[in-house]
Amino acid sequence: MKREELYLGIDLGGVSVRAAVVDAAGHVLGQEKHRLLSKEPPQVAEAVLRAAKTACGAAGMPFSEMKGMGLGVAGMIDREQGLVRSAPTLGWRDVPFIKLLQARTPRTPLWIASELSVSAWGERAVGGGRGVDDLIVVLVGSNIGAGIVMAGKLYEGASGSAGDLGHVQVMPNGRLCSCGQRGCLEAYAGGQNLAAWARDDLRIAMAAARAAGERHPAVGRKLIDLVGEPEKVSVAAMEKAAHEGDDLSRRLLEEAGRLLGMALANLVTMLNPARLLLGGGVLLGSPRMTRAAIAGVDAHATKSSRAAVQISAPELGEQAGVVGAALLARESLSVAA
Ligand SMILES: [Zn+2]
Repeated sequence: MKREELYLGIDLGGVSVRAAVVDAAGHVLGQEKHRLLSKEPPQVAEAVLRAAKTACGAAGMPFSEMKGMGLGVAGMIDREQGLVRSAPTLGWRDVPFIKLLQARTPRTPLWIASELSVSAWGERAVGGGRGVDDLIVVLVGSNIGAGIVMAGKLYEGASGSAGDLGHVQVMPNGRLCSCGQRGCLEAYAGGQNLAAWARDDLRIAMAAARAAGERHPAVGRKLIDLVGEPEKVSVAAMEKAAHEGDDLSRRLLEEAGRLLGMALANLVTMLNPARLLLGGGVLLGSPRMTRAAIAGVDAHATKSSRAAVQISAPELGEQAGVVGAALLARESLSVAA
């Protein structure tokens, strides 16, 4: 009997690299995750290979028998050139990462795509978007981005930056975003920014309380009781406080959800997907914000586009990256053959 063809999937983030041996059905046969000790591209290339070989060991398969290796990198990718155009968490700009990796493993076919693209591909192949040709996966964490599959193909745009949903404008002259613009969605609904927004409002409420000689702020009291000091505010704490009736947390989670929902509505109206998967740490931790976002889609997308789209959650969790990367490599090789 012919042995099954196996591929390696790599998920490269800013702090760690995850590698997995994946079969055609998207099952992980062995995996490895380790922290990056250096962000220098040559060292990262070594770390990727080490993780890949350890994952092969865990799967009981020699590295030399892998048919190919797919990489998903958190950043903007030029797939044709094998170039990481920008990966802020790694501090990279225009890094020819595939070349660096290929020099270390000349006989392994390699592919690279953005983390969002490989996640969307994985969900489409074996996750929450199985068999759906027009699929959008939106992940809301510290950053906000969308992986887009249109007509059964990944859509990444002319320069690889399609799906940069965190930087669509939702508020003229609004809060400052890490990209330098004002009023980006991410400046409100990105996890760290949402917590910072709550801290700002909490400090104002506490100063007002002090000025009025009150012991407790008029709003945000449950939140401050829960975390102790404004510096410790997180989206998870906000969700908990909101559940206990905290007005400040409720207002901000709902406002962030509303802005996200408006951006999603525009995406749905514009691209007419059959399925929209909403995930990422922030939404996972805040059912309240998720509900507000879906209500925003209901309110603002066109009737026909809203009727066509089913909204649910991704199913692959933190395995989406490695599974999607391996399956994308598999698909690319079979198309090329
Ligand atoms: Zn921005």
